[in-house]
Amino acid sequence: MIDGFGRRIEYLRVSVTDKCNLRCVYCMPEDGLPWLRRDQLLTYEEITRIVGAMAPLGLRRVRITGGEPLVRRDVAALAGMIASVAGIDDLALSTNAVLLDEHAGALKAAGVRRLNVSLDSLRPERVDALARRPGTAARVMAGLAAAEDAGFEPIKLNVVLMRGANDDEIADFAALTRERPWHVRFIELMPTGANLALSANAFVSCTEALERLQGIAELEPVAGPPGNGPATYYRFPDARGTVGVITPMSHDYCERCNRMRLTADGQLRPCLFGHLQTDLRNPLRRGEDLVPLIRETLRVKPERHWLVQGSDVGSGGLVALSQTGG
Ligand code: SAM
Ligand code: SF4
Repeated sequence: MIDGFGRRIEYLRVSVTDKCNLRCVYCMPEDGLPWLRRDQLLTYEEITRIVGAMAPLGLRRVRITGGEPLVRRDVAALAGMIASVAGIDDLALSTNAVLLDEHAGALKAAGVRRLNVSLDSLRPERVDALARRPGTAARVMAGLAAAEDAGFEPIKLNVVLMRGANDDEIADFAALTRERPWHVRFIELMPTGANLALSANAFVSCTEALERLQGIAELEPVAGPPGNGPATYYRFPDARGTVGVITPMSHDYCERCNRMRLTADGQLRPCLFGHLQTDLRNPLRRGEDLVPLIRETLRVKPERHWLVQGSDVGSGGLVALSQTGG
């Protein structure tokens, strides 16, 4: 799958639900969002058929995401179905880890190879406050322990940087990579409809994060762990893990884009942001050929996003990344 700008698209992020058991301050509004109805959601069979239609076109890697994917029943069953599609050789999952201790073993057995876990602070009271749910930190730690026990490697931690909320922990997160074989990725806060004040006031660039780390020890650029994403990785000389930065706002990021997104209600989105999306659910339910729709979505994939810090002009009406899988 080659898009109109010559980029090879071989990675699909599949959102299985728009619901979540947390309300992260940068993602969802505290009261939640109007949820999709059950009949609007793709079934696991339908998701597998869409992946099956894309694999012969060049799809190689899939990530299951959400909302929080583990709030949907038996996601491990879906993982097993996707893992058995011919041509798919990498399956990963993004989670907030709250339910991971119950599911880690089944996910591994089903063929999930890699996990990304969101963790925005190393201080339990902050984790709970940023997630707006008491008890979150303890659940996440149990989830991470279960993931290690199940043999997940690499484990990547996603940290959304926010001034005054967790930017004083940049060094602590980086220090964690010396003790554990974890890959800590700092993510620049992206503006969406639900977080405009926060994104205007609390944005911290990854350039600033790296500058703050330079005083601690030399960070060497490294290839980083296997993955699909736009992160750039560094390592302290004695570290077991790496420090990565994901820079949607401060650096060219789109020119290496390799992905499309499938929302929980079956919209194929060529870009995380913007209005463009192609409905695959209804054509699939009518028994139509999806290949021309997939090819047309590739053809119109935009060159880049047009996000503006602290404004929703570029987000294309997107209220929260939970709606598209992030
Ligand atoms: N619930 C899962 C989780 O939190 O990992 C998967 C879905 S979540 C939408 C995917 C990723 O998007 C998470 O790493 C989250 O931190 C990130 N994210 C959500 N909203 C964001 C925003 N406005 N800017 C930057 N990253 C964001
Ligand atoms: Fe839920 Fe993930 Fe959004 Fe947090 S970032 S509210 S865990 S979907």
